[in-house]
Amino acid sequence: MSTIFSRIINREIKADIVYEDDDILAFNDVNPQAPVHVLIIPKKEIATLNDLTEVDAEVVGKLHLAAAKIARDKGFAEEGYRVVMNCNEKGGQSVYHIHLHLMGGRQMSWPAG
Ligand code: AMP
Repeated sequence: MSTIFSRIINREIKADIVYEDDDILAFNDVNPQAPVHVLIIPKKEIATLNDLTEVDAEVVGKLHLAAAKIARDKGFAEEGYRVVMNCNEKGGQSVYHIHLHLMGGRQMSWPAG
């Protein structure tokens, strides 16, 4: 089932896009939890981490490569940052189109709440 993220990919809803290529899109989170909070998503609709198959391995790798690139471009790659992917209800997932959260610009704590 399509989500709001498909509408962002299709430019039906505006987002503050920070990176795009043939397979993935990255844009600022509307409710940032850090000074920089970017969502990195595949253009292919995949609902949750549980729905990944072998054919998705490359695009999931690309999500992480994009996260490291954006962190470098934003200038916090060396000091450090966090990437998170939530899965299903208890994982805190609210949009059912997989996405990496890239957060940087502040000290992260662990365990996360
Ligand atoms: P999750 O809870 O892991 O599924 O993360 C979904 C994220 O999407 C949340 O951090 C929301 O703030 C963010 N979000 C929801 N709608 C939009 C939107 N239209 N543009 C940007 N970020 C959004």
